[in-house]
Amino acid sequence: MSKYIFTTGGVCSSLGKGIASASMGALLECRGLKVCMIKIDPYLNVDAGTMSPYQHGEVFVTDDGAETDLDLGNYERFTNSPLSAANSITTGQIYQEVIRRERAGQYLGKCVQVVPHITDEIKRRIYALGEKPDIDVTIVETGGTVGDIESIPYLEAIRQIIHERGKKNTCSVHLTLVPEVSGGEVKTKPTQHSVKAMREIGIQPDVLLCRCKEELEEGFKKKIAQFTNIDFDCVLSAHDVNTTIYEIPASYHAQGFDDVVCEKLDLKTKKADIAPWIKLADQYKKDGTKVTIGMIGKYTKLGDTYKSIDEGIVHGAIKNNVDVELVKIESDELEKGNPEEILKNLDGILIPGGFGERGIIGMTLAAKYARENKIPYFGICLGVQIMVIEYCRNVLGIADADSSEFRPEGANSVIALLEEQVDVIEYGGTMRLGGYDSHLVKGSKIHEAYGADVIRERHRHRYEVANNYKERMTEAGLILSGFSPDGQLVESAEWKDHPWGVGVQFHPEFKSTPLNPGPLFDKFVKAVGDSKNKK
Ligand code: GLN
Repeated sequence: MSKYIFTTGGVCSSLGKGIASASMGALLECRGLKVCMIKIDPYLNVDAGTMSPYQHGEVFVTDDGAETDLDLGNYERFTNSPLSAANSITTGQIYQEVIRRERAGQYLGKCVQVVPHITDEIKRRIYALGEKPDIDVTIVETGGTVGDIESIPYLEAIRQIIHERGKKNTCSVHLTLVPEVSGGEVKTKPTQHSVKAMREIGIQPDVLLCRCKEELEEGFKKKIAQFTNIDFDCVLSAHDVNTTIYEIPASYHAQGFDDVVCEKLDLKTKKADIAPWIKLADQYKKDGTKVTIGMIGKYTKLGDTYKSIDEGIVHGAIKNNVDVELVKIESDELEKGNPEEILKNLDGILIPGGFGERGIIGMTLAAKYARENKIPYFGICLGVQIMVIEYCRNVLGIADADSSEFRPEGANSVIALLEEQVDVIEYGGTMRLGGYDSHLVKGSKIHEAYGADVIRERHRHRYEVANNYKERMTEAGLILSGFSPDGQLVESAEWKDHPWGVGVQFHPEFKSTPLNPGPLFDKFVKAVGDSKNKK
């Protein structure tokens, strides 16, 4: 039977509960424990698939094709917990299920209520994952801030689980803010109030992670402990780290986080072996070749839109000791004035995923520039489609080559829906989502990067390279280097006689982790560093 850790947040949002929860998972794994990570999002959307990247950041995709909150990406980057649709709980899913049962008459005439029916469904989902035989600790992170109306049923369900499973089997970790006001004075009052709000709903936090700028001094910890009824050694400083978020597990460990949690949960384990995390933080030196990689995308103004790609680049940078500055360029910007003025400062160009017509011209200009000027280029999903469109227009001379996504009546749709999808699209839900195999062509850059004939990566797209143009593309020199197992769908394309120009239809960023960087992030960053060194 699993033990449970419940992570909640106080004072304000965006304190980094996801990274805190992921770091706890990483540390417990370092002690040899098997963890399961669950994210609760108290919104009414059924999943994150329909949410605007402007409002909610990246949509993370699991291997089974669930479109989830980006915190699941943090979990996968820090832990080995296998994630699927079930690990992402939203209010939309809970209500959908309860209402479905009500319509099916399964509540036998009872009045269906938030307590107990909604709270029971929440508990059922948490227990279903925690009860799996090999799980030692289930970490459940509740999004939002204590006091939010939306999260009340979840906190009530958590209170009940703590009561049902008992104090030795459950641990409440509360992440709060300890701000500095003008003059640098440190304030503990918001934290005191936040713990009070938790107690009002019946949960006494066991561990506090205090987000602060500088390491929290002992005096403040004592004061917080006294006013919140929390043991002094359970009040930890979650101060800003200097270099990378991958330092956080080591920082928590140094303060005894995993010791206090294991003691509280009565878990007898080996001592934590955090050597891989320490090594990683040491490797993150800034003395390598300095390069600038430009990400030419559509939603670049918001920090978290391409979260997993940002991290993938960091993973490649750490592995190759290249000092990468990643600049995000709104592709519209390239359409104004002289794009070369912007592009000439870049040592590498990356075009990420995206939907809709806006910004396509700018991305095509960037791909042409990278191809002609032999700048390393990495195209992800939309990025490979742009690569193909640009090649067809400028090398094959098909002036109106386009994707039917952007020009439905286009005579030359080199990127198109599959025949069988054309009718289905009216019903929605036609995206290719989740993990699929790709067969790689020997001798290609992608084959060299993975060192394997068959790979599995995650997808989230609707359109594909059109089969009826494939022959002309290859004749004109575009290398098609990866295919679906039946050979029908193009999974990757490459430029020949180019230092490194690779585009992939899948999203390799979802599987890249700091301890095991995605091969394409590794080789792209390496190519950018190498070509800079040659300049
Ligand atoms: N809009 C493109 C498609 O649906 C690319 C999607 C993406 O980049 N994720 O095929």
